[in-house]
Amino acid sequence: MSLEGFEVAVVGAGPAGSAAALTLAKQGVQVLLVERGSFPGSKNVFGGRIYSYALKRLLGEHWKEAPIERFIRKEGITFMKPDSAFGIEYETTDPSLSFTAIRAKFDKWLADQAEKAGASLISDARVDDLIIDSGRVRGIIAGQDKIPTDAVIACDGTTTGLARKAGLVEMLEPRTISMGMKDVVELPADTIEERFGLEPGEGTANVFVGSPTDGIRGGGFLYTNKESVALGLVVGAEDVSSRKISAPSLMEKMRNHPKIRRLLKNGKTVEYDAHMIPEAGPGMLTHPYTGGMLVAGDAAGHLLNNGYTFRGVDMAITAGIIAAETILEARKEKDYSASSLQAYETRLRREPSLSDMYRFKRVPKYLRNSRLYGVYPELVCAAAEAVYRVDGTSKKKIFKELRGQTKGRVSTLTLIRDLLGGMRTF
Ligand SMILES: Cc1cc2nc3c(=O)[nH]c(=O)nc-3n(C[C@H](O)[C@H](O)[C@H](O)COP(=O)(O)OP(=O)(O)OC[C@H]3O[C@@H](n4cnc5c(N)ncnc54)[C@H](O)[C@@H]3O)c2cc1C
Repeated sequence: MSLEGFEVAVVGAGPAGSAAALTLAKQGVQVLLVERGSFPGSKNVFGGRIYSYALKRLLGEHWKEAPIERFIRKEGITFMKPDSAFGIEYETTDPSLSFTAIRAKFDKWLADQAEKAGASLISDARVDDLIIDSGRVRGIIAGQDKIPTDAVIACDGTTTGLARKAGLVEMLEPRTISMGMKDVVELPADTIEERFGLEPGEGTANVFVGSPTDGIRGGGFLYTNKESVALGLVVGAEDVSSRKISAPSLMEKMRNHPKIRRLLKNGKTVEYDAHMIPEAGPGMLTHPYTGGMLVAGDAAGHLLNNGYTFRGVDMAITAGIIAAETILEARKEKDYSASSLQAYETRLRREPSLSDMYRFKRVPKYLRNSRLYGVYPELVCAAAEAVYRVDGTSKKKIFKELRGQTKGRVSTLTLIRDLLGGMRTF
């Protein structure tokens, strides 16, 4: 393939990059999509659930052709102590709103759609640097190849080398990063359906709070695929290193929790992966644009993990579309300067499906409260125990029981402050 004559280079064929490349290619732009993995998705890790709306916006009715594992019928949150658990479950009336997927299949399929629309994909090619001239990005450098383009869209994920090279971000701080780990455990489809109370094609998404993270900021997740279950953990990188805890040992603890052990009984672990997650939100970059370049997806902090929903892929797709639309506007005037491309930031802020990212910007700070992962999940389990345990001994009033549990661990004032903080944040 000749590497001359491309108008736009999109770096990274994750959801953000493929969405951007597809949107540009559909309008006849000569676009090069560069992926360092042997194929799109080959190295990409996530929990497992994608909100459908973004894919619908990108592909119209064709979104249903995506490699969908199961549509999410059930949502759950489970508070855990080492030996007990208390869960709440919600069943939606509209499972088409979100689905589970396997990234090696999903990312490849999405990049295929971009290629079908006319984008040129090269895999196994790492972009090492940017061509920068007179303070403006004018192309990419991959190995020996210097590829001049009018504009670059950096969709190179959390560690985004390109935004750093363009001076849009300093080194990432451990405080603003989480570590994600995931097992894929194979189980027959009918076993999954029986254990989780699902019909064929239906899935469940669960989060776990409390003992799986040993009091560290973060939580566990479980998603059902067709014939496998994704079980994982997301924990604050700084907390793990300051408490000198080995993250894999937390994973081991979660696998061995009685509730999880039962759900995954006789399953075969076929995969273990780990990946970083940006938690600083869009404030991670000074701006998501500079002269000649836009940044989208994880690379720009376009992700919202508020503890009960995890939105990364939908936001990455939406940001990729908006980045491409901004480039299409700039192309009309042939003006890719920073002052022209700053419209991108305004468009991101105005986009309803991304506005949660700005609305919930206090969430990361609120979620740094360690009581949310230690004493409070224990309290919830203790309350359940106080309600349900009948063993012939006389029962204390529930409030008295809970006050007993909190003694020396959290004052009433702190509890009220945390509650009000949560109400303000969410
Ligand atoms: C454990 C875990 C669980 C998660 N669970 C969920 C979930 O359930 N739902 C959800 O929506 N989100 C989830 N996320 C977040 C989600 O994975 C990301 O938000 C999403 O993948 C972001 O897409 P992206 O295209 O911006 O980046 P990525 O998916 O990271 O894609 C970046 C691409 O760029 C390529 N690349 C990087 N550098 C270069 C380079 N220099 N040259 C060429 N190519 C390069 C990479 O190989 C990769 O293909 C989870 C993340 C983790 C880690």
